[in-house]
Amino acid sequence: MSTPTGFMDYKRELPADRNPLERIKDWEEFHKHFSEDQLRTQGARCMDCGTPYCHTGIELPGGASGCPVNNLIPEWNNLIYRGLWREALDRLHKTNNFPEFTGRVCPAPCEGSCTVGLIGDAVTIKTIEQAIIDKGFDEGWVVPQPPLTRTGKKVAVVGSGPAGMATAAQLNKAGHTVTVYERADRIGGLLVYGIPTMKLDKKIVQRRVDLMEAEGVQFVPNTEIGTTVPVEQLMSEFDAIVLCGGSTKAREVEIEGRDLKGVHLAMDYLNGTIKSYLDSNLTDGNYISAEGKDVIVIGGGDTGTDCVATALRHGCKSITQFGTHSKAPLERDQINNPWPQFPNVYTLDYAQEEARALYGQDPRAFSVLTKKFVGDENGNLKELHTIQIERTVDETGRKIYKEIPGTEKIWPADLVMIAVGFEGPENTLIEKLGLAQDRRSNVKAKYGDYRTSVDKVFAAGDMRRGQSLVVWAINEGREAAREVDRYLMGTTMLP
Ligand SMILES: Cc1cc2nc3c(=O)[nH]c(=O)nc-3n(C[C@H](O)[C@H](O)[C@H](O)COP(=O)(O)OP(=O)(O)OC[C@H]3O[C@@H](n4cnc5c(N)ncnc54)[C@H](O)[C@@H]3O)c2cc1C
Ligand code: SF4
Repeated sequence: MSTPTGFMDYKRELPADRNPLERIKDWEEFHKHFSEDQLRTQGARCMDCGTPYCHTGIELPGGASGCPVNNLIPEWNNLIYRGLWREALDRLHKTNNFPEFTGRVCPAPCEGSCTVGLIGDAVTIKTIEQAIIDKGFDEGWVVPQPPLTRTGKKVAVVGSGPAGMATAAQLNKAGHTVTVYERADRIGGLLVYGIPTMKLDKKIVQRRVDLMEAEGVQFVPNTEIGTTVPVEQLMSEFDAIVLCGGSTKAREVEIEGRDLKGVHLAMDYLNGTIKSYLDSNLTDGNYISAEGKDVIVIGGGDTGTDCVATALRHGCKSITQFGTHSKAPLERDQINNPWPQFPNVYTLDYAQEEARALYGQDPRAFSVLTKKFVGDENGNLKELHTIQIERTVDETGRKIYKEIPGTEKIWPADLVMIAVGFEGPENTLIEKLGLAQDRRSNVKAKYGDYRTSVDKVFAAGDMRRGQSLVVWAINEGREAAREVDRYLMGTTMLP
């Protein structure tokens, strides 16, 4: 234990983010660091409760509870308190290959289930995680560690998101020769094309890719398996194949006016900007710009929030984010959402904080259903027609949305982004390999086992579980590597 009364002696504190009005002028990360003294104090708040739910990583209603990669949180909190940074880094790398990603983008289910959170404010776990790994890189402690011997077995990983990267890192550590195929021009999956640069600087992703290459992993971008390279070639050349292709089929809204000019899928909007920024600092103009436009984002989740932040940086005229869900309560509902479930409470994410700083209010409109898009005589989007809805459940527990008469509204808009989620993985690869799918169209493979219906083919990450979180992708990638190693060698030492 750091200090027995730390959780009573010190308040939870977080480093102040960059000023919202300043940070919307650029595309740089918005989080700042604490000093080592401040981190030591925050580490001292961990009371080593004996049953640390923070590292359990189980799924409860409403999301994960505890850390899905089972980070040894109380141990590194204590090491930080004692100033043992190098040891803390080793502890962190035992369970998480990429803490520099999760320390930046994880929603921190660990904090939702922190025992201090039962009677006060949770320990600032995510901030400490990022500080440990960032210091590790700054000090030059994170260096390539290639395996001492090779097994002679060859594994192909399809998709280079966090699941593919974690699978590759672990299999390489076990001595297998790993090739990662990626259809995009850059390695990283949604870490690069998806999550905006202000949440995760792409140099941070490339730094890890470079390290893995130095350890012996081969990355092959611009190569789509099933198209550029036939699946038969992969099946004959490799001893095992791990599919980590993500869950990228966007869900559509099928309403009148969808074809109007100015209505776009969120991923086309986000990725156009990211690619143009990385290629040319946005000078090539190859992106959908929100500059000077009245923008509406349909979808209240993370992807929608990233669209809001991107539109603000483009210099939009106004921004509104629609969600079909109602406004969350200010405090956790102790009956329906008790600890250690992930707390469903009203918060402002970075983009909403920025919009409020600029326009004086939260850009979100809750319980709103879009009924139709209306355009002008040239087919350009002009306005959206909506109605307020109320969510109830029927006798079987199924959610039903009831429209409230008299709440119809017209919103002027010339740019709309649709961010209503993802339907599952794309079909090409699945069909070409003849893989069984589950009822949600994901590749069928059991959690913890990862074997698909086809011999020597495994699946992990969003492609197996559906659109989820970076930390779950890392968890599945690590575990899938363990099962592939067992399949290849008959036994495994991987965790
Ligand atoms: C906009 C957005 C923001 C998000 N923000 C967060 C966040 O803040 N925090 C968080 O924890 N999670 C976030 N997520 C979710 C998170 O990014 C994903 O859960 C995670 O990246 C899944 O990892 P993965 O490796 O399974 O798949 P992905 O990251 O989707 O990677 C799959 C890769 O496979 C490639 N691929 C597919 N088919 C083929 C093929 N046939 N051949 C070659 N390559 C192929 C794709 O091009 C892609 O690069 C966000 C998601 C989105 C869309
Ligand atoms: S990976 Fe996420 S859940 Fe795990 S310790 Fe880090 S912030 Fe918490």
